[in-house]
Amino acid sequence: MYNPRFEKERFKKEVETEVKTLFRRSVQEATPQQLFQAVSYAVKEVMIDDWIATQKTYEEQDPKIVYYMSMEFLMGRALGNNLINMTAYTEVKEALEEMGIDLNAIEDEEPDPALGNGGLGRLAACFLDSLATLGYAAYGCGIRYRYGMFKQKIKNGYQVETPDNWLKDGNPFELRRPEYAKEVRFGGNIRTEYDAEGKVHFVQENFESVKAIPYDYPIVGYGNHVVNTLRIWDAEPIVDFQLDSFDRGDYRKAVEQENLARNIVEVLYPNDNHYAGKELRLKQQYFFISASIQTAIDRYKKSHEQIERLHEKVTFQMNDTHPTVAVAELMRILLDEEGLGWNEAWEVTTKTCAYTNHTIMAEALEKWPIDLFSRLLPRVYQIIQEIDRRFVEQIRSQYPGEEEKVRKMAILRDGQVKMAHLAIVAGYSVNGVARLHTEILKQQELKEFYQMMPEKFNNKTNGITQRRFLMHGNYRLADWVTGKLGTKKWITDLSRMEKLKELTDDPKALEEFMAIKRQNKERLAAYILEHNQIEVDPRSIFDVQVKRLHEYKRQLLNILHIMYLYNKIKAHPEQSFYPRTFIFGAKASAGYVRAKQIIKLINSVAEVINNDRSIHGKLKVVFIEDYKVSNAEWIFAAADVSEQISTASKEASGTGNMKFMLNGAVTLGTMDGANVEIVEEVGQENAFIFGLTSDEVISYENNGGYCPMDVLKEDPDLKQVVDQLIDGTYANGDTQMYRDLYDSLTQGSQGGRADIYFILKDFDSYARAQEKVEEAYRDTRRWAKMALLNTASCGKFSSDRTIQEYVDEIWHLNRLERS
Ligand SMILES: *Cc1c(COP(=O)(O)O)cnc(C)c1O
Repeated sequence: MYNPRFEKERFKKEVETEVKTLFRRSVQEATPQQLFQAVSYAVKEVMIDDWIATQKTYEEQDPKIVYYMSMEFLMGRALGNNLINMTAYTEVKEALEEMGIDLNAIEDEEPDPALGNGGLGRLAACFLDSLATLGYAAYGCGIRYRYGMFKQKIKNGYQVETPDNWLKDGNPFELRRPEYAKEVRFGGNIRTEYDAEGKVHFVQENFESVKAIPYDYPIVGYGNHVVNTLRIWDAEPIVDFQLDSFDRGDYRKAVEQENLARNIVEVLYPNDNHYAGKELRLKQQYFFISASIQTAIDRYKKSHEQIERLHEKVTFQMNDTHPTVAVAELMRILLDEEGLGWNEAWEVTTKTCAYTNHTIMAEALEKWPIDLFSRLLPRVYQIIQEIDRRFVEQIRSQYPGEEEKVRKMAILRDGQVKMAHLAIVAGYSVNGVARLHTEILKQQELKEFYQMMPEKFNNKTNGITQRRFLMHGNYRLADWVTGKLGTKKWITDLSRMEKLKELTDDPKALEEFMAIKRQNKERLAAYILEHNQIEVDPRSIFDVQVKRLHEYKRQLLNILHIMYLYNKIKAHPEQSFYPRTFIFGAKASAGYVRAKQIIKLINSVAEVINNDRSIHGKLKVVFIEDYKVSNAEWIFAAADVSEQISTASKEASGTGNMKFMLNGAVTLGTMDGANVEIVEEVGQENAFIFGLTSDEVISYENNGGYCPMDVLKEDPDLKQVVDQLIDGTYANGDTQMYRDLYDSLTQGSQGGRADIYFILKDFDSYARAQEKVEEAYRDTRRWAKMALLNTASCGKFSSDRTIQEYVDEIWHLNRLERS
């Protein structure tokens, strides 16, 4: 399609001008980083009119707006993605080629904005892409961390974290908007005042405050000229003028405020699915929520008189409980600043806020100590007290004499503020992120809430954007799909992939499909050679587990199985074994000791196996450093086997599983999260399913666990593997290095239960499933068919489908009309 906005000669001129004005250099003299900047500014220049026009459309059409509130947006690189969504990638690539510039090399200069940990942050990014592509009015609201997710280096097998100074060269796509700054207040005390009419007012005194400065990022919709906004907040100190007369000249306070501003957006907490209870984290939450809600209300009031109708034009979606303070902040503004009464304010709030639950794991639930919470947010806390008081009253009137219900559902209990309870009570919608997850919420974790307010509960199975994870990450396959379908419609309607099923008996099509996989494997092999100095064979099975390192995700099961295979090859060198490359990528939270031991174990096993000439390269193990969106795109494209092996019931959905499927990798997994729905779409015969079901896991958990020793007694091969953790095999003779991992499997640490993630219990089932993988892969034709069927069956897992469901069943938005 001819794209008039990318008239080549004009674009080339623009790049030259940018290089000159930004760096006083010519294109020939500029460094690759400078070229990246110049090209990005030139691209921004082209999109800016659409950005302005979209905002104008908002004003003219006055649509309902969704504010997607998230502590994390794991965006990945912007340049390539923007070009794809502007349908200008090819034109720009050609224009740059004519100037002697390689677009891919330029793209590689862009730091990954890693403002997220993993799945939750990436989901937020995929949702913004889909919202813009479907033409809905939406803002992402978040924090502009000065340091994103740490960079991971592996030294001597251990993870080493280094700071991610992603802003050091500036950021071409962002726009600083100081004119929209907001003040956010912390601490102090609340004084009650009565006015002439005897009306009560709450005045916050002796507070510290911070100035929130917004930075806007364009979110380009695919091929529709819609450009939405991600607004993330930076913090600056408020100097002198803000101090009221009472505080003027208070030097100590000025210094404190400066420190607060400096600290508040400094770093992203690197915990995935884990609550750490840090005060600064709560400050971060209130900081971006208060600024975002103030902005949403300002925007609403510009063209609307009646604040009590806010919910008709505004909805706040809370990505997990992290933004839940939003419900109390909205109440505060409606009560204290807009002058609504409690009932009116509550009516508006409970029609405006909606909550997405992301986990059922106890260690991930946010429960803030009341003393900390009330000290930091005194007025917000008062409001939560009143919400809790009324809710407890409601429980008692609905369930007289059932104090058990109060104990289970109260928001304030045991000295803690339970954020999930607040979100459920104040939200008009509570959704889980995959069918199984939502069922577990309704039937187990949140049973009492579901019984009391069933109408709030609903499921929204997660999704991913095919624009980034196929078009950008796997352009070869994307082009092939377009050719075979004879249309590009799949780019905005992934259900069209279905038609590829007609090709499963077409030998030429299957061959082409696998040839593309092979090219992607070669691309990844080159990356591995460059980054790991390990040679891997693209003809081997690429068996991949990339995701955050967490015990429930069971990377330990995977590596124990690799140890088992190695023992088998050594003991029976004569037996045939199809060459396999096991690929890992995973960051562990900096303070998660056991997760880091598992990384060390993987690297130690890799070291031994990769250097054992006697196995003739049948097995290779690679740990890819610094797993992030940009290398993830290549990894998915190159995978044959997608390892989705979490303990059933623990992974709420997973989205990595969907990216693999889209790219034609076959799932080896448990019946957990969205794996259940993946198998439903592709068919049991085109996936490898193993292990306990979630019902079985939950049943064991409710009955004191299981006995790992019984399993080890029955399985000498597994016992040998487990013993190798403490016989020095993978630790140069050190018998203590992996003692903790050994103990966690066999006796449980600190008096706890052993093997709480059922690794040994599921081991045999996993090993048998892996044998079936090998058998299937040996049959080239059969495997090609399975792989193609995965791509063909992935339609449901587009985030476009997910977002349309949120729109239809939760938000009720109308599409923007853009000419
Ligand atoms: C998709 C994605 C994740 C989430 O992976 P899961 O396997 O669902 O846990 C994490 N990190 C990155 C970089 C991703 O792209």
